[in-house]
Amino acid sequence: MGDSNIRYADIIIDISHEALDKVFQYRVPLSLWEEVQPGSRVFVPFGRGNRETEGYVIAIRQEADYEESKIKEILRVNTEGISVESELIQVASFLKEKYGSTMIQALRTVLPVKTKMKPKEEVFITLSMEKDTAQQLLCEWERKHFTARARFLSTLLKKERMRKEEAVKACNFPLKELRKLSEQGIIKLESRIKYRNPFPELVTRKQGWPLNDEQRAIVDNFKEEYRKGERRTYLLYGITGSGKTEVYLSLIKEVLAAGRQVIVLIPEISLTYQTVRRFYERFGERIAVINSRMSKGEKSDACERIRAGEADVIIGARSALFAPTERLGLIVIDEEHDGAYKSDTSPKYHARETAIYRAKLCGASVVLGSATPSVEAYAHALNGEYQLWTLKKRAGNAILPNTQIVDLREEFKKGNRSIFSEELHKKITECLERKEQIMLFLNRRGFAGFVSCRACGQVIKCPHCDVTLTYHRNGKLRCHYCGHEEVFTKQCPICKSPHVAAFGLGTEKVEAALHQEFPAARVLRMDMDTTKRKHAHEEMLAAFAAGRADILLGTQMIVKGHDYANVTLVGILAADLSLHEQDFRSGEKTFQLLCQAAGRAGRGEKAGNVIIQTYSPEHYAIVAAARHSYENFFKEEYTYRKLMAYPPCAHMLVILIQSGDESQSIIAMLRIEKIIEQSQSGEMDPIQILNPGQASLSKLKDVYRQVLYLKHKEEERLLDLKRRLEPVLEKHPMFAGISIQFDFDPLSHY
Ligand code: ADP
Ligand code: ZN
Ligand code: ZN
Repeated sequence: MGDSNIRYADIIIDISHEALDKVFQYRVPLSLWEEVQPGSRVFVPFGRGNRETEGYVIAIRQEADYEESKIKEILRVNTEGISVESELIQVASFLKEKYGSTMIQALRTVLPVKTKMKPKEEVFITLSMEKDTAQQLLCEWERKHFTARARFLSTLLKKERMRKEEAVKACNFPLKELRKLSEQGIIKLESRIKYRNPFPELVTRKQGWPLNDEQRAIVDNFKEEYRKGERRTYLLYGITGSGKTEVYLSLIKEVLAAGRQVIVLIPEISLTYQTVRRFYERFGERIAVINSRMSKGEKSDACERIRAGEADVIIGARSALFAPTERLGLIVIDEEHDGAYKSDTSPKYHARETAIYRAKLCGASVVLGSATPSVEAYAHALNGEYQLWTLKKRAGNAILPNTQIVDLREEFKKGNRSIFSEELHKKITECLERKEQIMLFLNRRGFAGFVSCRACGQVIKCPHCDVTLTYHRNGKLRCHYCGHEEVFTKQCPICKSPHVAAFGLGTEKVEAALHQEFPAARVLRMDMDTTKRKHAHEEMLAAFAAGRADILLGTQMIVKGHDYANVTLVGILAADLSLHEQDFRSGEKTFQLLCQAAGRAGRGEKAGNVIIQTYSPEHYAIVAAARHSYENFFKEEYTYRKLMAYPPCAHMLVILIQSGDESQSIIAMLRIEKIIEQSQSGEMDPIQILNPGQASLSKLKDVYRQVLYLKHKEEERLLDLKRRLEPVLEKHPMFAGISIQFDFDPLSHY
């Protein structure tokens, strides 16, 4: 057992993914206890010669893994300011503590990939003699019929500078000869490290718009505070098209002028050429882009440029948050509410909270932006934790579209069994006649089969919980919160109509219906199936923007960030699809999707129309979206969260238990439940354990999944429980071979 008077530090010598397999333990001398923390840079005796070597502390422990007498002691702490590596290790430590993972997993998440690949070098050839002399040499070589040399030299004379590959390939001049000429002092070979830039095209620089009054006030407020050295988190709430991006660009300019770097996070799906181009136009070459489609080499290059201080604006998806910036001054998170900001692998961190943590470490500000802020962020803005900025008008001349809700139950009564309501059908026809474009949106997330009555709209729910039952292939309906099960009958328990059916409507089905009803219309279907190819997504959007289709039909991937001036109609085919997922956030997700989809209409000079088809026209998320009223939505949603003690009004911790052996996974789950119960017996205000059981996705790739949902008002109580649980789970033999993952304040249902 550990001695409370002794402390050890886990240390890595090199900052790279490979180094994580080589963790060394050292004793922390008493005099350094306070200074030595995760992230500290320390000097240690290393190797057989005990050479003094610098290393990074990644964890502090009470117990040693090795024989005590073999453990050496830390010499001293490097106090030369903290490096970006120290900062990232501290962030990793935060991820481990808050979201639950091993320190190694957390470090793998934050540390940059270093590829073993050598940096690509580019060799340039120039003349190392006067042009006249070279000309004479050329004549001589021609006379002597040195054809290869002559061919090469005449090209070089014309071009003045050429790349090595050009000489070898295009001039068919061997490398060996090049070296000879260089030794003879005829040419000079100069090598430069070549950084791969994913956007090689040159973009013309552009000035921004003169800001409007609302934008100006926000930018001024930021500048004033930034110059005074005040750092904080701001929430920029502005309806779609209100000019948020223009505001970010101005804020970034201010921070760059102060000599600091900026990280801009954008959801991966909107990380398109269109968006990135706007940044290129403003900031030119000092941009680095990081996205998931880049090769390891490209990522490693980007990180090298950032570390070398050659890139000041880093744009990327979630993981760009860990860019190795030495002078970070601002983090912008666009579309802050987006689900993509939560990692789906361990540590399951949220980029918003992690950004705020990193910003505190290095004295940066954070700007969150959204047209539909997450309930968490808006609640924080209302209680003053974040500063709230609002943009109420659309920038330029565009006005908000006219939005109409269509009750699909009424359509059914009228005998209309088509996917399109009368109103939508009429509007599509008119729009096609005017040669304007249409976007039809199908939220297929809900495809997973909730069951509803097509006559009265009733969704079949669990008698014990406020969640919908899910249709299973074995013909039963099941509640994943309490395990309640019932036989699926086609008869509606409320209106007794025989039209109860599992809801399922695919884009292909809609496409076929469009061809039938509007045979002349050119339809582009965009979903997982049609966008598998590498650039398919962008190509289709470009084709639509160029007017090569009349109707763009798709899933949520069509609602993000694109501006089409000629789109005047947006149709949402079944707004309910996302409403009845088994998830306390389904109202929020529906509201966000509807607002974003609606925001696509009327972005240009022409007025827009939005039609929302739904079986629940009275649902607050749908009503609020139709009125473009985030405030109304928030009020209802917050009341509900408070009533049910869901985040942000309380906190949740999910424990996911996975095993290839079903009974083992169940036994482990019951055991953990017992441990938790025992640990808080007699407690006045215990952590609530919501009905433990199978996950909705109960088996994945032959692995069985059990979940425990824990709930408590205070975050610290849950974190403390996790902290006490982790060592038990690690050491107890009954949990060997079982994967146990934590998810703090989950965004999705298990
Ligand atoms: P958001 O990010 O809020 O959706 P954008 O910044 O993309 O908004 O702006 C929406 C549109 O309005 C863009 O076409 C943009 O060029 C234009 N715009 C933004 N600010 C102004 C302004 N001050 N004056 C005129 N047009 C503007
Ligand atoms: Zn019914
Ligand atoms: Zn239930």
